[in-house]
Amino acid sequence: MGLAKRHLEETEARGYGDTDRVVCAGCIGDPYIHNRIRYSHRSGTCSFCGSHRNILPLEEVLAMMMPVIRRDYLPALDNVPWDREEGYLSSAHGVYDPYEFVYEELNTWLEIENDDLLQEIADTLAAEDRVSAYRFSLRQEERDMEKWKEYSKLVTNTPLSAEQIVSLTDKPDRLPEDLQAIRATLDMVYDYCRELRLTTDLYGLSSQFRPRSIYRCVNFLDWNPDYAGLSFIPATLVGTAPARSVEDNRMSEKGDMMFYGAEDKRVAATEVGRNASCPSRPATIGTFHPGRRLRVLDLTDIASWKLPGIFDVEHEKIRSCWFFLKAFTDLISEEKRDGDSYKPTQVLTKYIQRKTDLQGIRYNSSKVRDGNRGCYVLFVTNRDCLEKGDCLDTTRNQLVMEKVEQVDFAGMGI
Ligand SMILES: [Zn+2]
Repeated sequence: MGLAKRHLEETEARGYGDTDRVVCAGCIGDPYIHNRIRYSHRSGTCSFCGSHRNILPLEEVLAMMMPVIRRDYLPALDNVPWDREEGYLSSAHGVYDPYEFVYEELNTWLEIENDDLLQEIADTLAAEDRVSAYRFSLRQEERDMEKWKEYSKLVTNTPLSAEQIVSLTDKPDRLPEDLQAIRATLDMVYDYCRELRLTTDLYGLSSQFRPRSIYRCVNFLDWNPDYAGLSFIPATLVGTAPARSVEDNRMSEKGDMMFYGAEDKRVAATEVGRNASCPSRPATIGTFHPGRRLRVLDLTDIASWKLPGIFDVEHEKIRSCWFFLKAFTDLISEEKRDGDSYKPTQVLTKYIQRKTDLQGIRYNSSKVRDGNRGCYVLFVTNRDCLEKGDCLDTTRNQLVMEKVEQVDFAGMGI
């Protein structure tokens, strides 16, 4: 085989031609490529801006981009119908010629301002018309979101309770199809949460760190109640509601005891709201500390997580998890609309309680829009809400009420 022909074949296989130019980090905005150049330990003079600093050959940078170009774009010629006179059919949008591809599409990620560099990339990349692969298929995170929607439909339609759904799914292959699909989605969500290490520790009274304060508000007590002859307000009255008075909730079904609290008194009071039949009743707010460390699934903080760059293909799973979990957590912190069911989140919570070693979930309030919106659902029963000084049982998830106060809702602007 002639040398020239072999070279042409190689160029075709790798997707770009030859260039001996080098580029510095300052010329490329994309954080992943920027950092790869910045920490390259190779210094030289950038062919594009002329500065003397760390550089990489442009060919190496193109090699970093190729896996993403191959994954996200298809040759238009093989994928979009073509007519000799009309050009590409059914594709007024979405087909990029080689220059549009670099200047309009790739550069949304690359963020290159140097025109000479853009021109060189366009000249070096294989000259073909391209079309986004996602015109024909969904992105991974979009497919996952579809799965969650299907799951939501299935759990809402089944007559089984959250507890039944979760306990029935112990032998997934023997289950009817709908329960198999439900279990697969729950496993997926939890797998993603683990991938992103979304847990937070709430230190307790037995930990060496300062215990976490969690506030819980109730609206059914009068001012200074003389409740059943008691001269104080007991923790079992402010803490987790007893089973008989548990209504259907965001994270738990009717009759299922879980502790709802918040990181901030105002958020706790806003979540509960005034007593509908007696609005003048105060907000009775208990300050609780966990007895021992509680580890919870943390769904509040996804947005602050560092999203791997698009060219960081080694972490592409984390990238798609991030997009999915972001959309997912926004969805579960949305205010409930008429006709919406809490069942999807109730089943997820029950799964976390029964199938993992976590003791609760931290999520964003749907009623507070700014500041610290952190809320908790903790797997703590009514009898595990204790008074200060009560004997702790460190084998159980317990909360100790350090303090209780009564305040006017109006005073908190609620
Ligand atoms: Zn430069």
